[in-house]
Amino acid sequence: MKKEPSETPGAARITALLLEEVHRRLAPIWPDAHPLLHYHSCFELLIAVILSAQTTDEQVNMVTEELFDRFPDAKKLAEADIAEVEQIIHPVGFFHVKARHIIDTAKVLEERFGGNIPPTLEQMLELPGVGRKTANLVASACHEVPGIIVDTHVLRVLLRLGVCPKKDAGLAESIVRANLSPEKHTQFSYSVNRHGKFTCTARKPACTQEGMSCPLEDICPKIGAKG
Ligand code: SF4
Repeated sequence: MKKEPSETPGAARITALLLEEVHRRLAPIWPDAHPLLHYHSCFELLIAVILSAQTTDEQVNMVTEELFDRFPDAKKLAEADIAEVEQIIHPVGFFHVKARHIIDTAKVLEERFGGNIPPTLEQMLELPGVGRKTANLVASACHEVPGIIVDTHVLRVLLRLGVCPKKDAGLAESIVRANLSPEKHTQFSYSVNRHGKFTCTARKPACTQEGMSCPLEDICPKIGAKG
């Protein structure tokens, strides 16, 4: 099988050095290694992350207060009327499928895990609507295991840095996993997320804006960053 560029020994070494340097520079700037979603329990976090697909954390935070007031645990949500859930979560988009996913997830949590979050990443991935980003985020926040959380911001930054050769979150996760030590994974994910959200933004990365600067400018090839 043809190897990805970062798998060759020389390229992997460069990738490892680059990731280490990105972590060294960004972690002190963005030290808060926590989700921006509002939640009070691991159940709420899991549901909020499922709702965050294809939308912003801010949009999700606008609906979850009412959702969790009405359905505070897996048991209540498992028994919910889907039309009521759809009406509450309507603003986050894709509300038909997301309502089905969170109710079905709540049922699985009730039936298989006593209403709790599954103990392993693999079991979390079996839940409806749960992909690797969600599973890594919830596992790292709730079970304190290293999590590589590749969301849209992290993937964009890794593409522009040349760490990941294509828009493939799974590939990006595997490259980071292979080239950065596990104890740095969670902090790296959050600091790169904030960097992508506030500095290396989709439309106006700081390096292309008059009077703005980026702490990674001298080590970034700026792939796809338009001025
Ligand atoms: S130099 Fe530009 S493209 Fe590279 S990380 Fe910074 S803002 Fe993003």
